[in-house]
Amino acid sequence: MRASQFFISTLKEAPAEAELLSHKLMLRAGLIKKLGSGLYTWMPLGLRVLRRVEHIVREEMNAAGAVELLLPAVQPAELWQESGRWDVFGPQMLKIKDRHERDFCFGPTHEEVITDIARREIRSYRQLPLNFYQIQTKFRDEIRPRFGVMRAREFVMKDAYSFHVSFQDLEREYRNMYDAYARIFTRLGLKFLAVAADPGAIGGTGSHEFHVLADAGEDAIAYSSASDYAANVELAEAVAPVESRAAATKKMEKVPTPGKTTCEDVSALLHLPLSQSVKALAVMSEDRLFMLLVRGDHQLNEVKAAKLPGLDPFRFATDKEIEARIGCRPGYIGPAGVPAAVMVIADRSVAAMSDFVCGANEAGFHLTGVNFGRDLPEPALIADIRNAIAGDPSPDGKGTLELCRGIEVGHIFQLRTKYSAAMKATFLDEGGKSQVLEMGCYGIGVSRIVAAAIEQGNDEKGIIWPLPMAPFRIAIAPIGYRKSAEVRKIADQLHDELQAAGIDVLLDDRDERPGVMFADLELIGVPHRVTIGERGLKEGKIEYQSRTDASPSAIELDKAAGHLKSLCA
Ligand code: ATP
Ligand code: MG
Repeated sequence: MRASQFFISTLKEAPAEAELLSHKLMLRAGLIKKLGSGLYTWMPLGLRVLRRVEHIVREEMNAAGAVELLLPAVQPAELWQESGRWDVFGPQMLKIKDRHERDFCFGPTHEEVITDIARREIRSYRQLPLNFYQIQTKFRDEIRPRFGVMRAREFVMKDAYSFHVSFQDLEREYRNMYDAYARIFTRLGLKFLAVAADPGAIGGTGSHEFHVLADAGEDAIAYSSASDYAANVELAEAVAPVESRAAATKKMEKVPTPGKTTCEDVSALLHLPLSQSVKALAVMSEDRLFMLLVRGDHQLNEVKAAKLPGLDPFRFATDKEIEARIGCRPGYIGPAGVPAAVMVIADRSVAAMSDFVCGANEAGFHLTGVNFGRDLPEPALIADIRNAIAGDPSPDGKGTLELCRGIEVGHIFQLRTKYSAAMKATFLDEGGKSQVLEMGCYGIGVSRIVAAAIEQGNDEKGIIWPLPMAPFRIAIAPIGYRKSAEVRKIADQLHDELQAAGIDVLLDDRDERPGVMFADLELIGVPHRVTIGERGLKEGKIEYQSRTDASPSAIELDKAAGHLKSLCA
């Protein structure tokens, strides 16, 4: 490919609104252009990268036995009403009306549509198992679209859906997809981790996420130092403390804490460790106020809390609600002496505390030396409602947990019969009896992968692609392409030879100054670069530099093509 016939549009500075490095680099390298919030154009250079990702995903899905199809992006409301998700999916779903005032949505996901295909097409156990997939544009009206294509509203997903005669066969295919995903992310050249996950709005039983490891990742992952246990912190169990509650040694006392409304401030004022304080969080569910207790140095895990009986779903109480139902303003509330209508739920670690500090339910005061059973009733419910932290024992009993951050690029689910039962997708078994189909579903964030790869590979000059994702493998940088007939001849020859060998080569024939040319090629991250100049040619040499080499090295002109081909083999 000749740069003059392609389209490269790099920027010196990223637009100010881009916060994340990958977003800045994608804009600067001209891979994407913003159209509106969460809406991006894939420019020719970016599209080459996206297509490479798609290609590897497609090859591995095919090799794993899945069959490609393409479902409509626009979906009739009736299917979602049947599954019960039309109302529960929420504002993430872009609902639209056609000219006949009929309701549709722009598909945020495709369980309903594929289940409709399955119930029409699958008659007999003989047609099973089946795994259909597509690579397609989805729309989700995200609350906070950000970080460019990392969390866009319109994005490209590979979604697959499998159908089975039994749970056992679903488990087999789930494992098959798990392995295919591991191959895909390995082939893409990414550092990744598969972690146990919460099934979220998609539903079902078992689920794993695949995360590209990067400090900028939105998700926290807990993994064991001594086993292969790894889980999203949303899900990772915080095991109960081994030591049982110590006996009370202090008297309960009310102490003035004016202006100190956080556990941090109160602990500092009282010269007590943060782990001795209890944080009370007021939440509402169906007009009932619940008080959730976590240790001062711990954090509430909202995903875990939302699974408790009576709390599905919940929201944080407003200041007004807190004052009306507890009689005290937020910042000083605590479990001792709350009205009976307030249900107190304690994290396991809190339940094991004695002599703790908490709000006195009186503005400007806290209580110290508080003990369950003596100063207040035992909590109505004890549950795991906090985030696991580094140093916690691993839930599998092996080693302790460490934390790292990840970008979710894949998610697989055992849906079981959630959709097939609701939408009556059945088949006839060997005995001629009608049975409900077992289902799995498997997603990959194709466009997000491009951003995730850049989070993992970059330096001050720009992008460092994993080889399989690079938009071009080799760049030819001629010095004085228009001026020197010799340089032009050699550059053209090398270009044609590499291209004929099927290598994606970019000949930078724009006749830019060398500084500009090198800066562009480094910014867009071409892994291999050769520089051709008159001076070197006189000695029969050209210069080679990989994207990560500190300086160039000379290679013999007559060996150059062979050398470059072997680098790309
Ligand atoms: P997230 O937790 O990041 O919002 P999700 O769990 O809602 O994602 P899934 O329903 O599991 O997403 O979708 C499958 C994959 O699609 C995700 O693993 C992710 O890689 C990708 N994806 C989801 N939402 C977006 C988005 N807004 N922009 C880009 N990719 C996305
Ligand atoms: Mg997910």
